[in-house]
Amino acid sequence: MGTYDYDLFVIGAGSGGVRAARLAAISGAKVAVAEEHRVGGTCVIRGCVPKKFMVYASEFAHGFETAEAYGWTVGETSFDWPKFLAEKDKEIARLSGLYVRNLQNAGADLIHGKARLVDAHTVEVEGKGRVTAEKVLIATGGTPWMPDIPGVDLAISSNEAFYLPELPRRIVITGGGYIAVEFACIFAGLGVETTLVHRGPNILRGFDDDIRAHLADEMTKRGIRVLLGTNLTSLEKVDGGILSTCDNGHLLEADVVLMALGRIAYVEGLGLDAAGVALDEKGAIVVDQFSRTSVENIWAVGDVTDRINLTPVAIREGAAFAETEFYGRPTSFDHEMVASAVFSQPPIGSVGLSEADARHQVGRVDVYKTSFRPMKYAFAGIDQRCMMKLVVDAGSQKILGCHVVGPDAPEIIQMAAIALKMGVTKQQWDSTCAVHPTLAEELVTMREKVAPAELGAAA
Ligand code: NDP
Repeated sequence: MGTYDYDLFVIGAGSGGVRAARLAAISGAKVAVAEEHRVGGTCVIRGCVPKKFMVYASEFAHGFETAEAYGWTVGETSFDWPKFLAEKDKEIARLSGLYVRNLQNAGADLIHGKARLVDAHTVEVEGKGRVTAEKVLIATGGTPWMPDIPGVDLAISSNEAFYLPELPRRIVITGGGYIAVEFACIFAGLGVETTLVHRGPNILRGFDDDIRAHLADEMTKRGIRVLLGTNLTSLEKVDGGILSTCDNGHLLEADVVLMALGRIAYVEGLGLDAAGVALDEKGAIVVDQFSRTSVENIWAVGDVTDRINLTPVAIREGAAFAETEFYGRPTSFDHEMVASAVFSQPPIGSVGLSEADARHQVGRVDVYKTSFRPMKYAFAGIDQRCMMKLVVDAGSQKILGCHVVGPDAPEIIQMAAIALKMGVTKQQWDSTCAVHPTLAEELVTMREKVAPAELGAAA
C-alpha cells in the first residue's frame, strides 16, 4: 500500500463496477473508475431500463383494446416515436447523472476513456495517461454478437434498437432469447409488423418447456409471426427495404432487421493478455467464487464473466467483491435460485429448475400446473391466458421451480423466489392463505398433481 496511485481501479461504470467502486470508496479506499461510454452501463443506457420504458409504451395498445370492453370510448390513437425517444433519453440522462453523483459522493474518481491494462498493476486510459492500482476490477459487461453472414452490416443489434430514427413498418428479429422475444413483443405492440426467426424448435431455450410453448402461442395470438427451425443466411438491400433469405427458402422483406443472437464478454482492447488474465473458451474472464481472476490482484464481475448475465447478479458480485476485499468479510454471491423475468407480453417470471432439468437432477418430480384466462381479460372477452407451474421434488416435497406467464409475473416471481431460496416445501407453500381476487392466488391453490400420462416428453 502507498506505492500505488489507487487502492482500486475499476474498469467499467455499469451496475457491477459502480456498486463495487462505491462500496470500496465508502470504506475509505482510494478508488478510480474508467468508463468509455456513458456511466450506467448496459442496464441503464441500452438495456433493462430503456427496454422497460419501451415495454410500457407498447403495452398501451392492448390497454386501449381492453378499456373499450370496460366501457371507455378510446377514440383514435396514435404513437409518436420521436417524442417517446426524447422522453426516454431524458430519463436515461437523469439516471446516468445519478450514477455519476453517487460515485462522486462516495469519493471515487471518474475517468472518461477506454482503459487498457499495461500490466497487472498499471492501467492506461486513452488520452489520460497511466495510473497504478493495487487492485483492479474488470466490469466491462458484454456486447452483442453478430453472425458472419453476407449483408450483416445492414442489420442492427439491440444497441441501435433504442435509437431508431423512425419506427419501422416491418421488422424481422432473429434469435429466440430474452432480447429477441422482448423486442418482438415491443415492436408488435407498437403496431410494427413483426416476424421472429429462430433456429430452434421453440423460443427461450433453458426455460420450462410448457412456459416456452405457452408464450410462443400468446405471441402468435398477438400477431407476431414466429418462424421456428429457421436461420437467416443473408441480407440484401432492395428497393422496399432489406430482404432476408432463410435457410428453408423463406424470403422476408422488412425495414429493419434486428439480430439478437446472444452477447459476448466485452474484453476487446482491455490488455488482458498483457496482464495475464485467463479467458474461457467463449472469451469470458475466468473467475473463482470470490470473482478473482487468474491474476492475484485482478477481479472481474458481471457479464464479462458470463456466469448469470443479469444486472442484480452483477451488483451482488460487485458488492461481494467489495465486502471481501475492503471490509474484511469474505463473501461470495450464491448463484443458486436466482429468479429472472422476460418482459415479453405477457411476461414470464421464473425461479429454479424447469421440469426437464428437475427430472434430470433429482429424478422423480411432482408437477402442478394451471392455465386460465385472467378475470380482467375474461370480462373483456380477450383471448389471453396465463400459465403457472410448480415443479416439486417428489421425495423431499421441496419446490424446485416456479414458473409463471401472465400479467405481473415478474412481480409475482420476486416473492416466490424468497420462499424457494429458503427451501419451501409444497405443504408449507400451500399453508399460505390466498389473496383474493388475484392471479397469484392460483399459485397457492394448485392441489392436483399433473397425472404422469399428461407430463411432457421429459417425463
Ligand atoms: P440469449 O443467450 O438469451 O439468446 C440468444 C439466442 O440466439 C438463442 O435463442 C440462441 O439460440 C440464438 N443463437 C445463438 N447463436 C446463434 C446462431 N449462430 N444462429 C442462430 N441463432 C443463434 O441472448 P440475448 O441476446 O437474447 O440476451 C443476452 C443476455 O442478456 C441474456 O442471456 C440475459 O442474460 C440478458 N438479458 C436479460 C434480460 C432480462 O433479464 N429480462 C433482457 C435482455 C437480456 P439457441 O437457444 O438455439 O442457442
